[in-house]
Amino acid sequence: MGFSEIIGHGKQLDTLRSALVQGRLHHAYLFVGPEGVGKRTIALSLARAIHCSDRPGDFCDQCANCARIEASNHPDVRFIGPLPDKKEISIQQIREIEKELNFRSFSGGRKIAVIDPATLMNLAAQNALLKTLEEPPQNSILILIASNSGGLLPTLRSRCLRLSFGPLRRDLLAGFLAAKGTAAETVNLLSAISGGSLGTAMRIDGEDLREKRQVWSGLLSALKAGDYRAATETAEALSSNKEETSKFLEWAETWYRDLLIHTVTQDSKDIINLDLLAQIEEHCAHGDIEHLLSLLAQTAAASAQIQRNFNRRMVLEDLFFTVVGAR
Ligand SMILES: [Zn+2]
Repeated sequence: MGFSEIIGHGKQLDTLRSALVQGRLHHAYLFVGPEGVGKRTIALSLARAIHCSDRPGDFCDQCANCARIEASNHPDVRFIGPLPDKKEISIQQIREIEKELNFRSFSGGRKIAVIDPATLMNLAAQNALLKTLEEPPQNSILILIASNSGGLLPTLRSRCLRLSFGPLRRDLLAGFLAAKGTAAETVNLLSAISGGSLGTAMRIDGEDLREKRQVWSGLLSALKAGDYRAATETAEALSSNKEETSKFLEWAETWYRDLLIHTVTQDSKDIINLDLLAQIEEHCAHGDIEHLLSLLAQTAAASAQIQRNFNRRMVLEDLFFTVVGAR
C-alpha cells in the first residue's frame, strides 16, 4: 500500500504529505468528517509514513515498523478510545498518553497518539489534554478524530490544525467496491445508499439488502389510499425487531427520495434504486410532490425515533397512515 491507494481526500493528503516531507508537521491535528470516510485510515497511514523504514515520505506496509503500526503494536504509536466496558475516554487515559508522549521515541521517529472518537473524552479528560497541548511534548503528534467537533472544548479545537473530510464521491466508492469483486448491481446500490461512507458500504450486506428491498418496495406499493387495515398489518410485519425496522427505514428514505427526484426531474440519472425503475415510474405517474416531501421527512423522523427506542409498531403505523392517507 501507500498514500496513492487511499480513496479520495486528495487535497487533505497533499497537505499532510508535503508537511511530512518538509518536516513541518503540526503537533496536533483535528480530523473532522462523517463516519466511515477514511479519517482513521489516514491517521494510520500518516503514522506509518512517519515511521516506515523503506519508503521515505510514504509507507510500504511491509517493513517491521509498518507492520507493527498496522497491528496496533508499535511503541511509538498509540490509539486511544473508550476502554472496553466504558462509554467515555477518561482523564487517566489522557494522563497516561501524556506520560508516554514524553518518553523517548523507540524508533527515533516521532511519538504519535490518535484519539478516536475524540468527542468521547469527558470534560476532565479534555481539560487534561488541553494542558498537554499548551506545552506539547517534543517530537510528538496528536491526532484527534471526530465526526463532529461540536462536543470538543473551543480552546482544544483552536490548538489543533483542523482538516475536514467530506463524504467520498459515488464513483470512487463504486470503483473500490467493484475492485473488491462486488456484483455490479450491488455496487450501484451500495455506493448510492451509503452516503459517501466506505465504512457504511462495507457494513451493509448488499445481497441481503437487495432481496429485502424487493419485499419492502412490494409492501409499500401495495398500500392503497384509504386502506388503513393494510397500513396496520404492514406496520406489524416490519416491527418485529429494531435492526430490521431501522434497515427498512434507512432504505425507505432512499425510496421516497427516488420517487421525489423522479417526479420532479422525470429523469433516472440520480435514482438510487435503479433496478426498481419500473415501480418508481408507476408511482410517479400519480406522484404528489408535497405528499412525497412529507413522507420523506416523516421517514427520517421515524428513523430517529426508532434509535431512541420509541414503540416500533406505532412509529411505523403513523408513517403508513400518512402513506394511505393522501394518495
Ligand atoms: Zn514501511
